[in-house]
Amino acid sequence: MSTNSVDSKYYTKSVHAGMKPDVLSGAVTPPIYQTSTYIQQSPGVHKGWDYSRAGNPTRDALEAGLAEIEGAKYGLSFSSGLAAEQAIMQVLLLPGDEVLVCDDVYGGTGRLFRNYFEKFGIKFHFIDMSDPAEVSSKVTSKTKVIWVETPTNPTLKIIDIEKMAEVAKKSQATLVVDNTFASPVFQRPLELGADVVVHSTTKYIGGHSDVIGGAAITNNQDLYTLIKRSQFEAGSVPSPMECFLLHRSLKTLAVRMNQHHQNSVAVADFLSSSPKVKKVYFPGLDSHPNFDVATRQMSGFSGMVSFDIDGNYDDVLKFLSRLEVFVLAESLGGVESLVNHPEKMTHASVPEPLRKQLGIGSTMLRLSCGIEATDDLVMDLKQALN
Ligand SMILES: *Cc1c(COP(=O)(O)O)cnc(C)c1O
Repeated sequence: MSTNSVDSKYYTKSVHAGMKPDVLSGAVTPPIYQTSTYIQQSPGVHKGWDYSRAGNPTRDALEAGLAEIEGAKYGLSFSSGLAAEQAIMQVLLLPGDEVLVCDDVYGGTGRLFRNYFEKFGIKFHFIDMSDPAEVSSKVTSKTKVIWVETPTNPTLKIIDIEKMAEVAKKSQATLVVDNTFASPVFQRPLELGADVVVHSTTKYIGGHSDVIGGAAITNNQDLYTLIKRSQFEAGSVPSPMECFLLHRSLKTLAVRMNQHHQNSVAVADFLSSSPKVKKVYFPGLDSHPNFDVATRQMSGFSGMVSFDIDGNYDDVLKFLSRLEVFVLAESLGGVESLVNHPEKMTHASVPEPLRKQLGIGSTMLRLSCGIEATDDLVMDLKQALN
């Protein structure tokens, strides 16, 4: 088991990222500028804001915070993680282009690519990226984007971001990394050579299961300009209230991640030792096939643990009905612990052959360990397994 944990400077960074006193009032917390439009002194002359789809001070503050916590120059926020993904792909791709995507990418991401981008003549290859040689062999002159999600969902495979950056550089493709599962506290893909980081801020960054949001973060000024243009011209912007809530959440990100990490490590440890469990998927276990890459590129493992119950679907249903702390629900990354049945819930839209190939079967469960007391989580799993 790895001994990684939160780098202490992230406690300070989380609290202060993007927090500047309000120019007008001196308010320490960025106010919610609940307005769609702004007065102009004369046509085209204003204080920098003219319409809230184009810009809003509450959103600006959040975006500065998101950039800062990822250690980046530019941050953009969106109305959902998928909206951020859509904006990134809109500006990067043309008909005839090809994209390499990790095979167990977030279900909604795969659906977005298959149902919408493919009809515009873009080809997606879903491949196992835990082996960099496999990725190199699939690159062609048409490959414009390499799309990585690590850890993956729900099998928690680990993809080597530095290796993917080498492949992308060689083929002049753009490397996009979905950093939702790790959070910027534990993994910063831009430092490892990624071009763009995408987040579903709905998850760890939001952290309270009360906001849907997304982000695109980069150091590349040209990419930033293009994605910002899509944010404005395609219009998937978050509301001022959503921006306020996400910025407020950012302040406790490091504290929460520390507890998520402690809990998932203890839960993975317990599950590994249980005779009722057939297999545990967790990047912090030294039995994980990419444990060395995980401990190198991540400083902690968030709260996600998947496992197969040793039994059948009836046993799974019995187990679920006995849980008292873990709540059966989709989503992840919130303060409360959740359990999800990927085959019937989050990954129901993944084509069945692919689901089988990934090992997502009827006995698999995915846990999002919250920030409750570690013992309460372990005891809950123990009593429900018994
Ligand atoms: C939830 C999720 C998304 C999609 O984000 P939404 O905010 O639900 O649109 C994308 N990637 C990952 C890894 C996710 O978990």
